[in-house]
Amino acid sequence: MTIRERIFDGIAVSAGYAVGRSHVANRDAGLKAEAHPLHPDEVDGEISRFLEAVTQARDQLMRIHRQVAETLDAKHAEIYLAQSMMLDDADLLDATISDIRTELLNSEFLFARRLNLHIELMQQFDDEILKARDSDIMDVGNRVLRNLLNPHADGRCVTLEAWCVLVAHDLPPSEATPLLKEKAIGLVLEKGGPTSHTAIMAKALEIPAVVGVPDITKFIEEGAITIVDGVFGRVVINPTAETLLAYEEKQRDYLTYERGLETLRDVPGETIDGYSVKLRSNIELPEEIAHIEGHGAKGVGLFRTEFLFLNRSEPPSEDEQFRIYRQVVEGVKPDSAVVRTIDIGGDKFFSHMGLPTELNPFMGQRAIRLCLQHTDIFRTQLRAMLRASAYGRLRILIPMISGIEEFLEVKRHLKAVKQELRANHQPFDAHIELGAMIEVPSAAVVADMLAREADFFSIGTNDLIQYSLAVDRGNEKVAYLYEPLHPAILRLLRTIINAGHDAGIPVSVCGEMAGDPMMAVILVGMGIDELSMSSMSVPSVKKLIRSIQLSEAKLLVEDIMGQNTIDGVKKLVWRRLRRYVKQNKLHVSHLSHANDMPSPASAA
Ligand code: PEP
Ligand code: MG
Repeated sequence: MTIRERIFDGIAVSAGYAVGRSHVANRDAGLKAEAHPLHPDEVDGEISRFLEAVTQARDQLMRIHRQVAETLDAKHAEIYLAQSMMLDDADLLDATISDIRTELLNSEFLFARRLNLHIELMQQFDDEILKARDSDIMDVGNRVLRNLLNPHADGRCVTLEAWCVLVAHDLPPSEATPLLKEKAIGLVLEKGGPTSHTAIMAKALEIPAVVGVPDITKFIEEGAITIVDGVFGRVVINPTAETLLAYEEKQRDYLTYERGLETLRDVPGETIDGYSVKLRSNIELPEEIAHIEGHGAKGVGLFRTEFLFLNRSEPPSEDEQFRIYRQVVEGVKPDSAVVRTIDIGGDKFFSHMGLPTELNPFMGQRAIRLCLQHTDIFRTQLRAMLRASAYGRLRILIPMISGIEEFLEVKRHLKAVKQELRANHQPFDAHIELGAMIEVPSAAVVADMLAREADFFSIGTNDLIQYSLAVDRGNEKVAYLYEPLHPAILRLLRTIINAGHDAGIPVSVCGEMAGDPMMAVILVGMGIDELSMSSMSVPSVKKLIRSIQLSEAKLLVEDIMGQNTIDGVKKLVWRRLRRYVKQNKLHVSHLSHANDMPSPASAA
């Protein structure tokens, strides 16, 4: 078979280039276990290896059972007990052992074959209970297979042995984060949109990433040389020597471009005529603090604290949270840090909370809704934040506020926690600011009312766009509809900013829109006070803002508000700003919507 270069297009979500060998993460890889012959002397050892994997699976299930029983309830924990009992089912195990003896083949191959046969047989029955049991058996079987294929992974779906480009159908943020932190140099996903949380995490860790690449896992071989072009949203597998050379040059140019931006590190984010906008960093992990200054950001505009709750069996304690928040506020001094209460739900789930599956999680028990139903977790977090506020300027931000009642309830909790701290003589900032995220359309509509209760607004455009346009932010099939320049979004943004300013409170944007240089100019024209984005986006946003006059940005806003189509808005934005983009040699394809705009090269 000749190896052919193939090019796939997707959505660029984290800029930069990576070249490396692919590791194709496939949750069901176990079922594709290959057959290997055994020598008769190896049979007993193989049977012991198989039984060990079964014991390991039983231990893993019992551990999960205990964790869920402790953190949620016995009912939800039962399923793991039932799954572990399936491992006592002699039929499947005995049959596999007998196959090993008679066929002299490896256990993963024979067990996978028995498992498939078993499932096929069960599927012939038209019985819902049997079908439900079916998926449990498949789950348990896959666990045993994973243990056989990789006994050191302790049941995890994916582990990385070497530096690689990680390619997968989909990866939730909880699974992606450790992999990206460990050994991935690039990320390619079949699923996902520009603002899915796995994409945001790749950007935070500065790992080039392309998502929404349909069917790539069907074509890519394990270990294939793979180029990830996170600038223009392209993946090349098995590149020719010519393509590799071309990409080496692109990579060099990109590094030169990045280095050029470093000169902006210490200059303020302001227009030519001196209108100043604070450019801050979004962080997901406290380690990121070390890098924000290097990118020229001023403080933290959004700390997504839910990532602290990830991949662990217990939620972090008050003291542990306090230490982290303190480290963050001290790390950004004399600037401030906006620390957001947990936004769990949506595409971020944490096993220790044992939350039941929801049909529509983005519309479900997410963020503040969850916190107001688990007030122990909420108050613990508020207490830790308040205690940290004694060590620097910490501002608290509440996600997914949909109306006044919720915000007033939050204020009552905050007041009660302050009283507790006072009673215990624990210091905190008595004037701590409490902000509302405006990311649910109902909150945008009553922004004038909320502005009387909140100390600041932070607009979460990722969700505001998703909920206003009814477009799932993580679904690549509708990513073309996810459009920050939709006239409805522009109107909402202006309404929110004006409502905040009429009430005398500052307004910031912390969604991905803030990190796109051209969008940032529009927001400046609307009068935004702060923009918060992934650190790596700060230099190019700063560069474009420093190239324009405030009056130009305002005029642009006036003119785009008169457009009634997305296309009309885009054309106008590009016509007005292309000269600056070219002059500054900016990469404008950091986000999907910019992909529709002509690239600087083609527009030249
Ligand atoms: C947003 O919705 O724009 C936002 C910043 O929050 P998140 O991406 O964490 O939902
Ligand atoms: Mg949000």
